[in-house]
Amino acid sequence: MLIFHNIVNISSYLLQERNAGNRIGFVPTMGALHQGHLSLIEQSKQQTQLTICSIFVNPAQFNDPKDYEKYPLTINGDVEMLLTSGCDVLFLPSAKEIYPEGTLHLPHYNLGYLETVLEGRYRPGHFQGVCQVMDRLLKIIKPDVLFMGQKDFQQCMVVKKLIELTGLSTQLKIGSTLREADGLAMSSRNMQLNESERKRASAIFETLSWIKEQLQVGNVVQIKQGASHLLEERGFRVDYTELANAETLELINEWNGTDKVVAVIAAYLNEVRLIDNSILTS
Ligand code: AMP
Repeated sequence: MLIFHNIVNISSYLLQERNAGNRIGFVPTMGALHQGHLSLIEQSKQQTQLTICSIFVNPAQFNDPKDYEKYPLTINGDVEMLLTSGCDVLFLPSAKEIYPEGTLHLPHYNLGYLETVLEGRYRPGHFQGVCQVMDRLLKIIKPDVLFMGQKDFQQCMVVKKLIELTGLSTQLKIGSTLREADGLAMSSRNMQLNESERKRASAIFETLSWIKEQLQVGNVVQIKQGASHLLEERGFRVDYTELANAETLELINEWNGTDKVVAVIAAYLNEVRLIDNSILTS
């Protein structure tokens, strides 16, 4: 596996690969890799000729500086996992490389409604940061296919919108969420859970499953409230338990029986904020 730290070097390498007719697949990450990340690498390996993974803990997307400071860093283990996975290239830039002018005057993206709900509402500025780094990375790597996880459902919609806004020709493919045996969605943040929190964390998946069982045509407000209640009983501090139109992310209080619905949850166990989602309809 080749490791690049610098834009000039990776750009000239990728130019050669592109000229040789190789299709490029890209898996951007913030490291602390787990099987969920590796499943995206695997999909890229199957569908393209050259798989690039980036590891960059993007300061611009952390609305809470404490969250940035405690974000897990496991670079040696990450490199080992990437080597075993057969990833071709690791891009490991510094913050200076990605943001040579710092992070104070980065571009603003018109994300409209998407930035006003759910993660957009609870983490102000977060999706601007996601777009700022993704715009940089996509223009450096110029992938044919970008692989991202459904685990971050709204982020996928934001990046789809970014691709439209910037007119890039990259195709976005969304991989399904890999879970632990008890249903907890794999996440780098799970490392921050202590033993007792880790045991309780499966309640998010259980709540998503409960919502799926409850969903029926008509009013869904009580389902959302019931879901919050279930999590609170297990000691969570809930940001939201919502049902939304899976195409537009408009929140729904009444289900008409035909719209595709996604259930989305964000909740804290003490200091650790976890998110998950499930598409409820076929
Ligand atoms: P992150 O390192 O958390 O920024 O995630 C990098 C990519 O991996 C994003 O596209 C995530 O949606 C995806 N991802 C994170 N967790 C999972 C998971 N459990 N299953 C599949 N993909 C995931």
